[in-house]
Amino acid sequence: MTFESWWLIFLPLLFGLGWLAARIDFRHMLSESRNLPDSYFKGLNFLLNEQPDRAIDAFVEVAKLDPETTELHFALGNLFRRRGEMERAIRVHQSLLARADLPSRDREHALNEIAQDYLKAGMLDRAEMAYKELKNTRYQQQAARALVRIYESEHDWPKAIEAVRKLSKLTNESVPQLVHYHCEIAQTHLLRQPPEFEAARKALDEAGNSVAQENESTPASRARVLMLEAALARAGGDAKLERHYLLTLLDEAPSFAGLIASDLQNNFAASEECAQLLERLSGHYQEHPSLDLFDVVFRLTWREQGAHAAWAFAQAALTAHPSLLGLERALAAQARAQQDDQASLQSNDGLVSLDLLKRLVGRHTQRLDRYSCRVCGFQARAFYWQCPGCHGWETYSPRRVEEQQ
Ligand SMILES: [Zn+2]
Repeated sequence: MTFESWWLIFLPLLFGLGWLAARIDFRHMLSESRNLPDSYFKGLNFLLNEQPDRAIDAFVEVAKLDPETTELHFALGNLFRRRGEMERAIRVHQSLLARADLPSRDREHALNEIAQDYLKAGMLDRAEMAYKELKNTRYQQQAARALVRIYESEHDWPKAIEAVRKLSKLTNESVPQLVHYHCEIAQTHLLRQPPEFEAARKALDEAGNSVAQENESTPASRARVLMLEAALARAGGDAKLERHYLLTLLDEAPSFAGLIASDLQNNFAASEECAQLLERLSGHYQEHPSLDLFDVVFRLTWREQGAHAAWAFAQAALTAHPSLLGLERALAAQARAQQDDQASLQSNDGLVSLDLLKRLVGRHTQRLDRYSCRVCGFQARAFYWQCPGCHGWETYSPRRVEEQQ
């Protein structure tokens, strides 16, 4: 490339054009800033000086003086909601919605904002109404998700079913919680006094259909349906059918065996067939060890084969999977057995006091004897299908915290 001296003619011209453009831009900025109220700059100043409360007051003043500033209203409303000042957030968004000349795009935006305000303020009925109005808008997916959440927290399962179906149509996402909604309905009918068998049966059929339709039905959803089938059979006095479902669960969702171990024990004990159950559960324990299963196998072994066999099982199991909780369970079972059978007290002579051992172990097991959510870490003594912390479904493992370490 060669440099030609006549190109230099263009240099002053370029400088001139640059100067002109800058001047035009600066004038434009000046004329815009003249239109802004003083409060705007005061607000900015407060923000720069890290005085957010006074900044908000100044911006509220701007919003009052110039109601056309929709973006400022949105920003303020959002800020109030984040700070937990729900009344103020709602008022800002209400004032926007009250404007007759608000463009429909901004109206939808304001509606979506106020729905979030209501939700956060716990005004679920108003949130529901606002979200329903967002149907067929660009916020419809967000609204559908929020509606699902609202119905879940109200335990309005029929509406949750309807909402989650709409959501899956919008997003093509799979909805694993559908099974659980039907199960929740079945459980409610089962827990009524007297149990409402027909309604529970119907809900469980729906749950079964959902499990069958769902391409990726999970061990958790299969386990829950089978557990409810067993509970329904038990409530109806059909022990044989109950046993069928419980044993099916062992095959289909083996890791959930701990949740039904004591139901199994009661079922087999009623017909005095504990030896048969012990054989089945001992085998299952080797493949899928869990604390609740350990507990039941230990007690059954004690009952069927005596204390020595039970402690031999405990020693082998605790050596393979060292567990304080397991030891505590075994000690508790021994204490119970001793209460039932005073004679066995003799055989314990010379050993460390059982009560002392139990107390020592118990002090360390309290924090381990919990189920925990693998998403948010929320821990609870009871097993939940839906986490009370993050509201996720099937986020609890059927194993205790100690077993997951
Ligand atoms: Zn959670």
